[in-house]
Amino acid sequence: MRRLPIFFLVDVSESMVGEQLYRLEEGIGAIVATLRRDPYALETAYLSVIAFAGKAVTVNPLTELISFHPPELPVGGGTAIGTALNHLMDEIDRSVVTTTTDRKGDWRPIVFLLTDGHSTDDPSAALERWNRGYRSRANLVAISIGGTADHTLLQRLTDDVVVFNDTAPDAFARFIKWLSMSIQSQSRSVSSGSDGRVSLAKSEPGLLVPVNAAAGLTPFNGVDDRYAIFVGRCAKTKLPYVVKYELHLGRIETSDPALSALLRTRRYALSAAVPVKYSYFDLSAGDPVGQSVHSADLVGQPQCPHCNAQFGMAVCSCGKIHCVTGDGEQTCPWCGEVGYYSSACDGDGFDVARGRG
Ligand SMILES: [Zn+2]
Ligand SMILES: [Zn+2]
Repeated sequence: MRRLPIFFLVDVSESMVGEQLYRLEEGIGAIVATLRRDPYALETAYLSVIAFAGKAVTVNPLTELISFHPPELPVGGGTAIGTALNHLMDEIDRSVVTTTTDRKGDWRPIVFLLTDGHSTDDPSAALERWNRGYRSRANLVAISIGGTADHTLLQRLTDDVVVFNDTAPDAFARFIKWLSMSIQSQSRSVSSGSDGRVSLAKSEPGLLVPVNAAAGLTPFNGVDDRYAIFVGRCAKTKLPYVVKYELHLGRIETSDPALSALLRTRRYALSAAVPVKYSYFDLSAGDPVGQSVHSADLVGQPQCPHCNAQFGMAVCSCGKIHCVTGDGEQTCPWCGEVGYYSSACDGDGFDVARGRG
């Protein structure tokens, strides 16, 4: 039996944390459920999920649909596209059966690369390896989530680059449907014996935009400034958490005059504080990059998502973020230094080290 291998190469950097990642997990579950009802897909499609941030990890090795368990996606710091591609190519070498003179191998694999960021490593060598040995025998579809990925880089990998407009109504549900339909259509076409270029399903207008037509969609200036992202550590449990602020662009309406005054002068509003696991550190490469955002640009102080301490954005003199319950002494869970903290911003604000996104 010739298999149709399908790889999801998913960016799980911090900017994906929160709702996007949950919806993606649910989405992969929904894809599997849909494909299981399709006799062609059921017979041929095998799925694998590879997650990458600063490092890459195979979350699901290539598995037949019937025994595939939708993954719990990890989170890490960084967007190492080069590392991700090398991991993918190693995985293809390991698990995809090639055709030789005396056996029929697997069908040409499909890779869905989902990313919203710019590479934090140098992907040149991996790009060359891909274009030399893999591009012609795989179908790679690169999806720029929200239009913030590095389109020039993606276009060096594949002719199929699309921008997923994640602000469209019901965007995620429709996107997942499009992915399922594309896989179904390809499993149908391999079942009839054709192993050509992937036949992507038609998408509804406005949801997926060819990259060259997407220029006007999201003004992009090279830095993903839609989010300001911070990695904290709970002072009690030492577990990491990610605090995500989103550029509010005047979208938030409030009748509270104090808050509305703040929103006029500050660019980012608290969007989520999400607990992450120790695996965060396994998937991150190096220290957070030296970008920083001043607290005077941030609105909202999250609770610690691990211990519910009132202040999740206390900053130690080492520059790292952790939680505190209120005024008093606190040991920094990063560097072990004991500091005296006073609650709330006292007008001067604080500088906080920013994650790579
Ligand atoms: Zn805590
Ligand atoms: Zn410290």
